[in-house]
Order: sequence, then structure tokens, then C-alpha cells
Amino acid sequence: MTKQIPFSKKQIEKIIEQTPTPFHIYDEKGIREYARKFNRTFSWNPGFKEFYAIKSAPNPYLMKIMREEGFGIDCSSMAELEIAEKLGMSGDEIMFTSNDTPAYEYKKAIDLGAIINLDDISHIEYLEKNVGLPDIVCFRYNPGSLKEGNTIIGHPEEAKYGFTREQLFEGYQMLLDKGVKRFGLHTMVASNELDSAYFVETAQILFDLIVELNQRLGIHIEFANLGGGIGIPYRPSDLPVDLDFMSRGIDKLYQEKIVANGLEPLRVYFESGRAMTGPFGFLVSKVLHIKKTYKQYAGLDSSMANLMRPALYGSYHHITVMGKEDQPYDQVYDVTGSLCENNDKFAINRNLPVMEPGDVVVIHDTGAHGHSMGFNYNGKLRSAELLLRENGQVVHIRRAETMDDYFATLDFEGLKDFK
Ligand SMILES: *Cc1c(COP(=O)(O)O)cnc(C)c1O
Repeated sequence: MTKQIPFSKKQIEKIIEQTPTPFHIYDEKGIREYARKFNRTFSWNPGFKEFYAIKSAPNPYLMKIMREEGFGIDCSSMAELEIAEKLGMSGDEIMFTSNDTPAYEYKKAIDLGAIINLDDISHIEYLEKNVGLPDIVCFRYNPGSLKEGNTIIGHPEEAKYGFTREQLFEGYQMLLDKGVKRFGLHTMVASNELDSAYFVETAQILFDLIVELNQRLGIHIEFANLGGGIGIPYRPSDLPVDLDFMSRGIDKLYQEKIVANGLEPLRVYFESGRAMTGPFGFLVSKVLHIKKTYKQYAGLDSSMANLMRPALYGSYHHITVMGKEDQPYDQVYDVTGSLCENNDKFAINRNLPVMEPGDVVVIHDTGAHGHSMGFNYNGKLRSAELLLRENGQVVHIRRAETMDDYFATLDFEGLKDFK
């Protein structure tokens, strides 16, 4: 029941001397190694690109590392586009996959030269009227009952995202009529999917469509964006997605469908978040209190404001009590935070070694959809983000929020005159 941690107890205690808990810490080496492996696995495809879904961990330092490894950025909001801009990213380094999008966000994305991925057929005219159509347009496909979803994203027919199959044909025809000449196709129907075959099947659906679109409309699709959703092994018993299997399967379909129909070149894209940084982030916290009532509780100095996934989805996050890895896991705890919400629990009925106040607790796999989902309910402040560099140095890549940050949107002076 162990999972790897890129630092020792002694190392983390030294870090805590400088930076009080709680904080998230990311492992640069792990991120770079996975990025290289991902790119290498798909190197058979000229133009292959992963656009990191920046919402997973919107920190420019992490993005800078991934950009060095050849990744683009996948944005879906104004703030995310601004991160891209501040990093000097532009053009086909940016995928803009948004939904229910306001015109000013489309404008920003187009100003940056981003690839625009439309979520709905009505957005063709909305975009044309409010901003103007860009050079290249991509559509997000929702395969409906053709594909099964999972618990995070739901069934495709119930999901708010994307075009129906009929709308795709209608939509590309509309683009053709309006003079657009360059096209892409996207889908994203799963989240945290661990079945490697699932992504091969997704590629099959898109490749088949690309062939049919070519036959019926005579258009050449330039890229197939297979979306995000690559799962990670949160539980020690989970197996990671087999990238080689996935890549071989997609390559085979590429030969059979794209090459055989003369539709080369087709660039394969992903916009994964979780797989790229999730396993390489850790929430470091300390035990504040041990409480024994009808159950046994280990209360931490962090809360669901630092990591919402267990409360939001009932997700499993592995927990290591530093220095007690080899002790018997013969206690049962609910590991809790301090919010006045009974679902503020990192784990329920978890087997762990005997814990005491002051123990350093590491919560695994918080590198994606961890800090970024943080919030301020109950007056909780967001924590710092640290980066463990490849050379062993630790740098602050985001400071912790202060009370001044929390109160920044209030005018206490104005309160004096408020009668
Ligand atoms: C959230 C999201 C992603 C990233 O999902 P992961 O599960 O983190 O890989 C990619 N694309 C879109 C459109 C998303 O909404």
C-alpha cells in the first residue's frame, strides 16, 4: 500500500521550517519525465501536440516547464488566456476549448491567434457577428449514445458539451459557405479514464468522422484533438494508462483510416491536464488534533478549500504519514479538515498507522485539479505552491494568500459612512 514520494521525511521537515503547512509541492523531475515519455510515444505522428489543460494547475512556472517540453496550452477562460499571453504564447500553441463563451473571451483568444474550438453550432454566427471568424475553426463533437461516459463527466447525452453528429455536418458546411478553409475536430467524453482502449476507441470515432466529412463535404480536417481525460492511478492498486498500447492502437487506425483514404497529414492532439501534473503534486499538511467519539478523526491543518476532490466526487487520494510508512496500518480514521461542512473529509474509514498531533501527512496526486479548485468558503485562505526542482532546490511558485488578499474586495472605510 505504498506510493512514491519524491522527498524524504527529513527533507520535508526542512522545507516546513521555511514554509508552514499546508502547501502543495510539485516535482519537476516527474513532470518532465512524463512529458518526454508522452511526446516520445506519439512521435510517429508529425505535428503531434499536447496542449496542457491549464485549469488543472494554472501556475505559469509549471506551464513554462511543460512548454519547454514542447507542450501547448489549453485555455477556457479570460484568466487562462492571460496566463498564455504573459508567458508569450500565441498562435497554434494555444487551444481555446470553452463553452457558454462570452464574445470578449473569443476576441482575446483570436487576438492571440489561438485555435478556436467551438462548443455549439450557434456560436458560428455569434462569433462571426461579434468578433469575426478566424482562419481555422475546430468543433467539439458530442457522440451522444455512441459512447459511454463516466461519473465525473456523466453520460455524453446528458453532458452540456459539444455538437451532435448532424450538427457537425451542418456546421462545417456553414463554415465552408462563409469562406473558412481550415478545420479541426475535437471530442472529450471521459474524465479520469484508466482504460487505455477507451482512447483508441475515441480516435476511431474521430477518424471515421474525418473520413466521412471528407467524402460528404470535401473538406480536409487538419487535426484530431482527442481531448483530455487520461486517468491516473490514485489508488495504489490502480494501473496507469498504458501509453504505448494507446499510441500503437491509434497509429494502426491512423494507417487504416487516414493514410488509406489519402487524408494525411492529420495532426493528433491531446489536451490533458490530470495525467501531466496530477501524480507529481502533493498536499503537505500536519495533524492538528486527534479526536475520538463514535469514530476516530485525524484533523489536519488543511481543508477541502485546499483539495476539494474527495468532498466533491468522493475521490480517493492516497495518504502517507511521513516516517510511519512501515508501521502497521491498524487504525481506522476519518481524515478531516476544519470547514463547517461534514463532507470536509480527505478520507473516510481509512486504514492508517497510529497518528499524533504534529505528524506530517502527505496527500498524493494533488498536482491537477487540486490547488486550482481551491476556494475561500469559511474564510479559508489558499495555500502556497512550491516546486521541487530537479537539482533538489525548492522554490516558491505561488505565495499563500493573506488576510489582506481575503479582504481585498471589501471596503471597510466605506462602512463608516454606511447608515
Ligand atoms: C478539464 C478539461 C480537460 C482536461 O481534463 P483532464 O481530465 O485534466 O485531462 C481538457 N479539455 C477540456 C475541454 C476540459 O474541460
